[in-house]
Amino acid sequence: MIIQVTDLKKNYGDLQVLKGITTQIAEREVVCVIGPSGSGKSTFLRCINQLEEMTSGRIVINGHDLSDPKIDINKVREDVGMVFQRFNLFPHKTVLENVMLAPIKVRKMPQDQARQQGLALLKKVGLEDKADVYPEKLSGGQMQRVAIARALAMNPKVMLFDEPTSALDPELVGEVLTVMKNLAREGMTMIVVTHEMGFAKEVGDRVIFMDQGVIMEEGKPADIFADTKNERLRSFLGRVL
Ligand code: ADP
Ligand code: MG
Repeated sequence: MIIQVTDLKKNYGDLQVLKGITTQIAEREVVCVIGPSGSGKSTFLRCINQLEEMTSGRIVINGHDLSDPKIDINKVREDVGMVFQRFNLFPHKTVLENVMLAPIKVRKMPQDQARQQGLALLKKVGLEDKADVYPEKLSGGQMQRVAIARALAMNPKVMLFDEPTSALDPELVGEVLTVMKNLAREGMTMIVVTHEMGFAKEVGDRVIFMDQGVIMEEGKPADIFADTKNERLRSFLGRVL
């Protein structure tokens, strides 16, 4: 198990957003998280990535207990890459510079090595010909692929995706999902919050249905998307499928 989450709770003031999440993610597993807006999906990812501090519970990533006061949170965070709905690339840096930045700044990687790696990653996401252009010249789908390359540049053990295609025009969704699919095939451990049920069915090893701050259902895609008895899941799927 590369990620173990035990009774994770998160409050914002009086609002309890995560009400006790327990799950494990195995190495090389692709877990798709679905559920209605406001159910706590983003908060769940943000707790795993330490963008939010949990209120209580336990998260262990690759053997590191996040609540252990002695651990170096930044080191653990380096193992976890994240891709958001919006790409937030640095606008005044070229595509290649965007991908090179973190390894140089955080890992102290030599410039040449970072460049080689950056070019290889851009090739992987099909954008080697865009290395020297600025983000404003890219389509949303291309920007999101750069964002994926940038996250991969830190050589993470796990990749978290928070609705990576939700902000894209429909015709650009496929190219991003293809890159994610290839990544999954290569054995990357991934947690993907998505409304792309086709992707969840085809690529997901497991689907987690979150609702009102809890994991309401969890299982193999075939079982989750089959005729479920759970009324809330059924109604959610009725709305998105
Ligand atoms: P989802 O990603 O499933 O749409 P979120 O995790 O974004 O859900 O949000 C779950 C709930 O937590 C929502 O009610 C949202 O308004 C609330 N929430 C999220 N972030 C914050 C925050 N920083 N402060 C207060 N409330 C928040
Ligand atoms: Mg969200």
